[in-house]
This record gives sequence, C-alpha cells and structure tokens, in this order.
Amino acid sequence: SKYALTELLICGHCGTPYRRTTWAARGKKQIVWRCISRLEHGKKYCPDSPTIKEENLHQGIIKAINNYYSCRNDIARILKANIGTVLECQGQEEIIAAENRLKEIDRARNELVGLIATSGCDEDKLDSEFEKLYEEEQSLSERLAMLKSKNQTSAETQAKLDKIIDMIEHEKFELETFDNVLVRKLIECVKVLSKTEILVIFKGGYEVRTEIE
Ligand SMILES: [Zn+2]
Repeated sequence: SKYALTELLICGHCGTPYRRTTWAARGKKQIVWRCISRLEHGKKYCPDSPTIKEENLHQGIIKAINNYYSCRNDIARILKANIGTVLECQGQEEIIAAENRLKEIDRARNELVGLIATSGCDEDKLDSEFEKLYEEEQSLSERLAMLKSKNQTSAETQAKLDKIIDMIEHEKFELETFDNVLVRKLIECVKVLSKTEILVIFKGGYEVRTEIE
C-alpha cells in the first residue's frame, strides 16, 4: 500500500484498521481517515470512533516522532552525565586497597623469614603466622582477580555505552513533513483514542500520546 497509515492506523474503540476516504462536503474535497467497521456497518459495532482529517493525523504523528527524538537526546544526556562516572569508580578503590594489603603481606613474610634466620625463636608460632598470612593472601588474590575481571567488563560496557551515546547524539533531526517510509520504519502502530488524541507506539515499545486538532 502507498499509505503507511493503511497498515498502522487502528481504531482505539474497536481495534479495526482505519481506511483513507475522500469526503466531499459543500463542494470541497477532503481526505479523511475512518474506522473500517464504522464505514461498513455504521454505528452498529463502533458507535464512537471519530473521523479524522489526514492533515491533522500527519501533524500529530510528526509531533510524536519529534518528541521521540528529543527524548532520545535527553536519554543520551542523562546517560552521559551519570552512568559514565559510576562505571569508572566501581571497584577501583577496593582494588587499590587489596593490592596495598598484598604488598604488606609480602613484607611481613620477608620479616618473618629474617627472624628465622637470625634467632632461634618459637617455630610453631612462626608456622601459624605464616599460615595466617598465606590464607589472607589467598583470599585477597581471589577477590582481586574477581574485581579486576569485573572492571574489565565495566570498561567494555563503557566503550559500548560511549558508542551508543555518540550514535544517539549525532542522529539529531527534526521532521518537518510526513514521510511514509520513515513512518513505516519507526512506528509499530497508531491508535485513534479520540477526536483530539492519538497514541503513537514506536517499534521497541516507546509510546507517545499526542494531541491532534
Ligand atoms: Zn472502530
């Protein structure tokens, strides 16, 4: 079909698609859209659905698309302001603390080895000291490995995020005239809620309620 709305526009009252129709009133022709059920059966199944001028529908949908894009820009800005820095900080302090503690453990062990060499002190006590240091070292090393791999994931997530933000930001535009191809590409369906309001549902689920004239 030539008109995107033939596939997308549905009646908010009975769920039937809308159809493009030419109205001739007082010698003037006008393009309008009407619920097919209403057209074919009168008020029998769908008594309340409105007839809407094509021009008003187009303006409403253009408004919804521009709203959709301006929201995307807002989302990009918010992402950029918050998530970026959150990811950077995550786990970094704990990694530094763990690395410092591991160095301390190493030093303590060297001191203990020095003690054994210089004096004949209590070997059982030394053994238990070594054991304690070893256990702490093991658990810290495991924790550190885990934190570092998490950090790696954060870095990858960050790179992906930067790319997405960049894409969203550089796709800024404002639609001025109705475009059947673009509308088909972006929109899942448009519901006529009333004479003055439509609901535009974008592919992916984002919804915009828009007033029409
Ligand atoms: Zn209907």
